[in-house]
Amino acid sequence: MRFVNVIVDISSGKLDKIFQYKVPESLKDRLQTGMQVNIPFGMGNRPMKGYVVGFSDTADYPPEKMKEVTGIVTGSVQAESQLIALAAWMRKTCGSTMNQALKTVLPVKQKTRQVVDRQAVLLLEEEEGKKLLDEYLKKNYRAKARLLSALLDHKVLDYKTLKEKLKITPSVMKRFEEDGMIRTEEKTIYRNPFEGHFEKKERSVLLNQEQIQAVEGIWAEYAEGIRKTYLLHGVTGSGKTEVYMELIARVIADGKQAIVLIPEIALTVQTVMRFHERFGNRVSVMHSRLSDGERYDQYVRAREGKLDVIIGPRSALFIPFSRLGIIILDEEHESSYKSENVPRYHARDAAVFRAKMCGAAVILGSATPSLESYYLAQTGTYGFYRLTGRTGNAVMPDVSIVDLRAELKEGNRSIFSRKLQQAMNERLKSRQQIMLFLNRRGLSGFVSCRSCGEAIRCPHCDVTLSLHNDGRLKCHYCGYEIPMPGTCPSCNSRYISGFRAGTQQIEKEVSKLFPQAKVLRMDYDTTRTKDSYERILTAFGRGEADVLVGTQMIVKGHDFPNVTLVGVLAADISLYANDYRAAERTFQILTQAVGRAGRGETAGEAVIQTYMPDHYSIRTAAGQDYERFYSQEILYRNLMEYPPAYVMLGIYLSCPQEELLGKQTRSLGAYILSLKTEGVTMVGPADAMLTKKKDIYRKVIYLKHKQSDVLTELKEKLENMMEKDPVWQKVTVQFDFNPLNAF
Ligand code: ADP
Ligand code: ZN
Ligand code: ZN
Repeated sequence: MRFVNVIVDISSGKLDKIFQYKVPESLKDRLQTGMQVNIPFGMGNRPMKGYVVGFSDTADYPPEKMKEVTGIVTGSVQAESQLIALAAWMRKTCGSTMNQALKTVLPVKQKTRQVVDRQAVLLLEEEEGKKLLDEYLKKNYRAKARLLSALLDHKVLDYKTLKEKLKITPSVMKRFEEDGMIRTEEKTIYRNPFEGHFEKKERSVLLNQEQIQAVEGIWAEYAEGIRKTYLLHGVTGSGKTEVYMELIARVIADGKQAIVLIPEIALTVQTVMRFHERFGNRVSVMHSRLSDGERYDQYVRAREGKLDVIIGPRSALFIPFSRLGIIILDEEHESSYKSENVPRYHARDAAVFRAKMCGAAVILGSATPSLESYYLAQTGTYGFYRLTGRTGNAVMPDVSIVDLRAELKEGNRSIFSRKLQQAMNERLKSRQQIMLFLNRRGLSGFVSCRSCGEAIRCPHCDVTLSLHNDGRLKCHYCGYEIPMPGTCPSCNSRYISGFRAGTQQIEKEVSKLFPQAKVLRMDYDTTRTKDSYERILTAFGRGEADVLVGTQMIVKGHDFPNVTLVGVLAADISLYANDYRAAERTFQILTQAVGRAGRGETAGEAVIQTYMPDHYSIRTAAGQDYERFYSQEILYRNLMEYPPAYVMLGIYLSCPQEELLGKQTRSLGAYILSLKTEGVTMVGPADAMLTKKKDIYRKVIYLKHKQSDVLTELKEKLENMMEKDPVWQKVTVQFDFNPLNAF
């Protein structure tokens, strides 16, 4: 490393302005990505500070013209340095350019104007003021009288009120000021997304035995200076959030800061309110609905040390805290923690990396942990705690599984089984609420049989095949394909097809069967406008409807004490998703759905309708038995060499020229094989799940290996090879480690 790349300005979207400097001998072994360095800058060699963003052995321009780094900036390590180091990690382990990675971790683009609040303070004595007011009234100075009388009532008023409510013009204000009757005061106000909504309350909950065990266990290690990642496994309502809050309180008392990550969909007012009540105004929130100004102000408050806790979805991980002590990832199994754009980082891995850098602990919480995290907890890499019970009086619901094949055989073609219809009838009579959940996830062109329940699968990869427009069924991992059969390959039935019923159809069906029931529907169509999501949930919570019909949106993170029946329609749809996580997702979503029933005092009931009543993911979800699910699923992952047993690297190629794409994909495959990396399995090349998108053709190659660093290294080799050959400029290549969604 003879040369170092430096950026000078990280605040205003000038991240692509990278300057190269020579590394002096004395600094060779000490410079690291993220460090702040002293550099001479510009024509006059002005001394400036910059951040190291990378190193290189080749010079971008003649080295004799290049200046030298003059030193390393010592003192406290800034949050920005850590974030830049995080970007370098992302570039390396996820695959992207340094610039893309920097844009991800330093997301504040434009400094927006700070809001200044101006107030008018009355300087006159009461007596004097009243005399003057009489005079104004006599002379019929109406505006002046209005202003003075309001000020006499309130003493201090802000300009905004005076202008908007009292219609006082700036010239009148100016006149008052010049005459020494008022004084103007200014103060910067940070746009606080929920200022004034809440009051700080004293803590009222006494932790139970299991919660104490988790808190004290983690805290004992923290106090000893051990910073680890912990998995906290407990069903919804078991008191995980109370554990998070207790740990955060201790971390704050220790002078440190906390990041709380929550999937965007679960980031409700109620969740934020609980943190706010506990930690007051030193908590803030980040989410996609904030204005640019609000977002900017949260960064400033964080940087200036005016915040202790930030709550938000995955991007909140990049808040510039310099005294970070703990990172919480609630619902750590949620797929929204993985970025769908380059760099395709997973917030869980990024959190663990950031925590390691600055000596923070990480808590992963879930009712249905990802296989990855549970695997690491089992093998001792992560600490592990369990909360087994629901707090309060709520009990686990009574769950039944209904076989839809049998319903069909006995002549019931309705979307609802007889069991579910009967249960709905009872609940409606006793005025309790019902949730009907359509498990739509993974509706990706799979083909299944309504008689025997089997879906058509790839014999090599054990995932379902997808029906493409050309009428062929294809595996998007390995490229295996067959023509669409006319009858079921397992039982010869003619009832094979994709699943078509949607939420609208279910809503109609409910109205037909139960005309007296009031129905609300929540799906993509009804939640497109801002706030509609909250509005529907609030209305249902207030009892304005008997039935809520919806997709997975309705099963996440909401408490409805009056819901005593949850119906899961076609539970198995997500099992037909054409990727290796199908069973895991099915288990997660069903466990959540079942958990919705009976959160209050009345015992709840759940009815799961399925074509595959014997599938382990459905059986174990019905019994809320994570351990049994895990032990089955991990066998499959081991056998088929899928994560977490193996690391999987997706290589996604796209190009408008179909032929060139085919040629380059084949040549990349051949190059990978020629490297003869020990232990690497290559799957494909194959057509992508979406073979063409907006006239761009797409192909995929998957690689598997037991160790991630072998694949990271291999990826670097591919990047280097492609950088040297100009033909690769015509093909876009993206990397995706442990992919969650099909490309
Ligand atoms: P989770 O985060 O696992 O869903 P929460 O922490 O939100 O669980 O707890 C669910 C409910 O139970 C909340 O209303 C919470 O205040 C309450 N709760 C949690 N722990 C206790 C406790 N030890 N004693 C009484 N109530 C508790
Ligand atoms: Zn069949
Ligand atoms: Zn296959």
